[in-house]
Amino acid sequence: MTIVDTLNEIWNKILEITSMFVIPDWGALIGLLPIFIFLGVVGPLITFFILGVMGYQIAKPRTKVKFVEGPRIAPRDEAGAAVFAPGLPYCRRDALIYQPGTLTCDRCDDELAVICPMCGLGRMAAIDTCTNCGLVLKVKAKPVPVPTTSGPKPGGAAVA
Ligand SMILES: [Zn+2]
Ligand SMILES: [Zn+2]
Repeated sequence: MTIVDTLNEIWNKILEITSMFVIPDWGALIGLLPIFIFLGVVGPLITFFILGVMGYQIAKPRTKVKFVEGPRIAPRDEAGAAVFAPGLPYCRRDALIYQPGTLTCDRCDDELAVICPMCGLGRMAAIDTCTNCGLVLKVKAKPVPVPTTSGPKPGGAAVA
């Protein structure tokens, strides 16, 4: 008999505890609604924002290193032809634009060409004086380090 009494007591306790969950205090829940909305809507937004920032931070150094290390791919116009920036050495075969001072292509070993920023005539990158307009494109092979990083790169104005 004592076992049955104990079981009854446990059962009553279970019912008591269950009723606390089955019949919730709606007033208290509605009072907590702003918190649920915050957790359900703002929480994920913040999470996505943080993930986005983290992803950007992770991806940023890679693209930077890529740009500094090698040549960049020339953009294409509507007809699909590679567009080369005037004043910058480029390889027509690989459609790659190189840093100023580069004379040969890393990929195909071709001599690079350059478009005169003044008259638009193409020539070999090794020739620094334009045969058409006489503009001298003096570019040092190794750019001199400048303390301040602000300001456009040499030839940057000619790109636009
Ligand atoms: Zn090439
Ligand atoms: Zn020229």
